[in-house]
Amino acid sequence: MRINDPNLLKGLAELGVELRPAAKLSELTSLGIGGTTDLLRITKHESIPGLLQLLGENHVPHKFLGGGSNLLVNDGELPWVILQLAPPEPGVVLEGNLAHVDAAADLGRTVTFCAKHDLGGMEGLIGVPGTVGGALRMNAGAYGMQIGSYVREVKLCRAATRKIDTLRGHQISFEYRHTSFAADDMMLAVILELPSKPYNEILKGIRICNEKRRSSQPLGQKSAGCIFKNPLGASAGRMIDELGLKGLSVGDARVSDRHANFFVNTGRASAKDMLALIADVRERVHKAYGVALENEVVVWNA
Ligand SMILES: Cc1cc2nc3c(=O)[nH]c(=O)nc-3n(C[C@H](O)[C@H](O)[C@H](O)COP(=O)(O)OP(=O)(O)OC[C@H]3O[C@@H](n4cnc5c(N)ncnc54)[C@H](O)[C@@H]3O)c2cc1C
Repeated sequence: MRINDPNLLKGLAELGVELRPAAKLSELTSLGIGGTTDLLRITKHESIPGLLQLLGENHVPHKFLGGGSNLLVNDGELPWVILQLAPPEPGVVLEGNLAHVDAAADLGRTVTFCAKHDLGGMEGLIGVPGTVGGALRMNAGAYGMQIGSYVREVKLCRAATRKIDTLRGHQISFEYRHTSFAADDMMLAVILELPSKPYNEILKGIRICNEKRRSSQPLGQKSAGCIFKNPLGASAGRMIDELGLKGLSVGDARVSDRHANFFVNTGRASAKDMLALIADVRERVHKAYGVALENEVVVWNA
């Protein structure tokens, strides 16, 4: 979608929102798949309510991009624009055991920064790519921990009211890769409350998690992490592996040989290829186990 209406362009400029025309989602997502659309970069949180109003009045649909590490985006010209927060400086400010973090901050760098100041708990998130905002939306987690456990407060722009609001941790439900935020709520910042832990101890935990990832995941290849959520009490990867589906391909979309729940783009896979592979694997698992696998990857194919 292209923004070229002069009044809309003027409105964006007045709000201080930067227009990046014809952004390629294949270059902005870890899967390396996705078509083209205009991208709007937001530098000031305060401009968001006005921006949403402007887009609404001009009938411009939008989607919200974090680091693009959990997304499968359709091919071709996309029928909506992308909103993205510009990374802040500094991304994290500490106050005792509280970390005030901007949603656009890089998750891995946030974990490391906090660790260097003797604040732990998030060791499992060290290899999870993307932003803190994306991690909040997905309730990212690994190796028995999830970011939601440390959330004290979230600043967000509510989709329903287009107003900036603050939610306390107990007002938010964080479940396995699911949160109670409304679909279009935008995470802007978070206060995490982290346990004190000596840096050396945190570093040991980080090294263990890094080693586990290195030994089991196709880290050098383009992926979006796990494609499917694990069903209650079962492992999606194990079921796919047991069916001998590692290496199964549609075009350049392939079930990883290393981790059966990671689907990789080995070259020029299209969204169509990846969606066909996902549908095929889902159907085979359903036939064999009677389990309907649910996507963990967020699919933008409308
Ligand atoms: C190699 C690899 C390993 C991975 N390992 C793990 C793992 O161990 N555990 C795990 O949980 N995940 C894992 N992932 C998946 C992914 O990294 C996480 O889900 C991550 O938290 C997504 O963050 P992001 O900023 O990239 O979000 P994006 O992919 O950009 O977006 C994901 C969703 O969040 C929404 N979103 C993003 N930012 C915001 C915001 N500020 N406000 C509102 N909505 C927002 C988007 O609209 C979209 O719906 C892995 C991915 C890869 C590639």
